[in-house]
Amino acid sequence: MSASRQKAKSGIIDRIVDTELAESENITKIFGEQVFNDRVMKERLPEDIYEKLKKTMVERTPLDTSVAEVVASTMKNWALDHGATHFTHWFHPLTSSTAEKHDAFIVPKGDGQVIFQFSGKELSQGEPDASSFPSGGVRQTFEARGYTAWDPTSPAFIRKTKLGATLCIPTAFCSYTGEALDKKTPLLRSQDALSNSALKMLKLLGSEEVTHINTSVGLEQEYFLIDRGFYNQRPDVIASGRTLFGSESYKGQSLDDHYFGNIRERVVNFMHDAEQTLYRLGIPVKTRHNEVAPAQYEIAPVFEAANLAVDHNMLVMEVMTDTAAKHGFKFLTHEKPFAGINGSGKHCNWSMSDSTGTNLLKPGATPQDNLQFMVFLTAIIRAVDKHAPLLRAAVALPSNDHRLGANEAPPAIISIFLGSELNAIVEAIVAGKKPGKSDSGSIKLGTDYLPELPKDNTDRNRTSPFAFTGNRFEFRALGSSQHVGDPLTTLNTIVADSLGYMIEQIESKAGSGNDVESAVNEVVKDVLTRHQRIIFNGDNYTDEWEKEAESRGLPNLKATPDAIAKMKDPEAVEVFGKYGVLNENEVNSRYNVKLEKYTLKLDIEFKASIDMASTMILPAAFKYQNTLASSIAAAKSVTGTEPAAQRKVLDKVTAGIDGLVEAVDTLKAILEKTPHGDELEHAMYYKETALPAMNKIREFADGLEVLVEDELWPLPKYREMLLLM
Ligand code: ADP
Ligand code: MG
Repeated sequence: MSASRQKAKSGIIDRIVDTELAESENITKIFGEQVFNDRVMKERLPEDIYEKLKKTMVERTPLDTSVAEVVASTMKNWALDHGATHFTHWFHPLTSSTAEKHDAFIVPKGDGQVIFQFSGKELSQGEPDASSFPSGGVRQTFEARGYTAWDPTSPAFIRKTKLGATLCIPTAFCSYTGEALDKKTPLLRSQDALSNSALKMLKLLGSEEVTHINTSVGLEQEYFLIDRGFYNQRPDVIASGRTLFGSESYKGQSLDDHYFGNIRERVVNFMHDAEQTLYRLGIPVKTRHNEVAPAQYEIAPVFEAANLAVDHNMLVMEVMTDTAAKHGFKFLTHEKPFAGINGSGKHCNWSMSDSTGTNLLKPGATPQDNLQFMVFLTAIIRAVDKHAPLLRAAVALPSNDHRLGANEAPPAIISIFLGSELNAIVEAIVAGKKPGKSDSGSIKLGTDYLPELPKDNTDRNRTSPFAFTGNRFEFRALGSSQHVGDPLTTLNTIVADSLGYMIEQIESKAGSGNDVESAVNEVVKDVLTRHQRIIFNGDNYTDEWEKEAESRGLPNLKATPDAIAKMKDPEAVEVFGKYGVLNENEVNSRYNVKLEKYTLKLDIEFKASIDMASTMILPAAFKYQNTLASSIAAAKSVTGTEPAAQRKVLDKVTAGIDGLVEAVDTLKAILEKTPHGDELEHAMYYKETALPAMNKIREFADGLEVLVEDELWPLPKYREMLLLM
């Protein structure tokens, strides 16, 4: 066994011994203790200031400076009590990760001493230089100042390490001209847009007491864990998050014995440890389980307001990464770290609730009588059909291309699953029939020990990218590594637009003498008729669906550049502009950043692939070739004839080596001819020409892996990374 692989394997045994049980603590006591939450504010702020801040948080009205002063100094004292020495505006730039620049609370006093200070201005606004963030052309580096502005709807929190603590203030990040340079600002704008449209619609339907609408979001995060020792031996995973080489493990997921299986002690210890940190940060993580692939897991918190859910998802990924390192694991969020077994997604459960807490996507006892529910459902159906390319673009990233379209994750074709009961209602409405009573009563389970369960005919389909699951939609095409800002911003905006469209239609019909209810019925029927094609309740993984979708005229944007190209369609630019979510300049900047990121990420993979093939895999193959050749020569010198079997193996190895060298040279030559003018052309060239050439390298390398003597192989193998921990 190659020395490094041997070392990685024996390291695991040490780690099992070293891992300490996470301390068991009273979760109700520690939950939220590092958050400047409502309880803390109530306790520490003067009553009038508390009321004003609350008003800002709920209604998102601006905060006046005098209030900010008091809040800042209170927040500072609270942070100091928790051991914080620094503060940072914590934001979500277009890199898709979070950003922070720490400042100490200290202010020199002239007498050689310092005091701690934190002003209202420091709380409300920051001016990080921040010139090196991608802006996609919105901001030139010579006028590089960006502004961070506090998002008071997401509470400040403290991040602790063993040796210190920092107060983090969730902020939005904008340019000089007020244009959004981040993922948070458009999300907040889209929440407002949706709230405004939905509120108007509710008023039109006769609701009186509702004041605003919240978007609620629950994110199921899938991930892989591998031992750190193996990770350190895999330059591909270090650089790109996934294995660029590796032949299948003898035992993969075929036995289905990992999904929901008993969670191994070392893993569950890690989960406990991470969860306790997350509880302290006020993140209500609830569910954890083994996923389908070996070494794959899931964590899911209870749903929260959309922007908070986004902040929390970023924290979940960051905390899990740090905690995994402590436990000798590498936490992988890449969508497809290992070929041949399932990849990871991030299911985004999304719904709207009104200011009284009523879920707008919860059907009444009889959905067919529930006008309000049908109106919102119809608006969503229209939104998803009309703007399917935008939803696809919002989940477009090179790593997610491995997942969408492979027969394990929702396909790249966006469609909606409604379930038979709701679908029957939609069909009846379109056909102009009065929807009859549905036959879904209760189903009886085959034992007297279990209660009768209401028949849930939603969520019986795991293949749909956008499924109704009883009281919410589940957008399943999101990649596990991705920032959730784009998909949520898109979803909120297109639904706001659809509601806006339906409001106009209803008002104009009601204006010409009809009552509102019949106007609503007419509009619902009309919209459903035009957009029913987006509904598909069958198996989304089949070739038949791909053909059927094509005949329905549904877009099938297979890869990231195809999807990103759609962001510039006039309809797309218009919908973001109309609702004040992104102006044309902001759309263009996101288009540029996404395309650039696509090619930059692929560049990393190309470089890693060429380098590892040349400096790790080929040398191992040469050594084995040498062993075989020497052995053949030795045998022949004794017996006088060339041993045929050894010769056969040598020929295979030699052919593999020839193929690999050829494939490496081909990719290099292709890369030299990269067109560098237009970003889209560049991305398309990578997708169509360079990526297939890189896949060829892997084909030959993986072929050699199963020929070359195991002891000579330099890279930890799939069967080790996936099964040993
Ligand atoms: P499953 O794996 O069956 O889809 P999970 O329990 O793993 O379900 O995750 C479901 C997620 O949906 C959780 O985050 C849950 O809080 C969230 N959720 C439940 N109701 C709503 C709702 N009304 N709006 C948004 N998210 C919701
Ligand atoms: Mg789940």
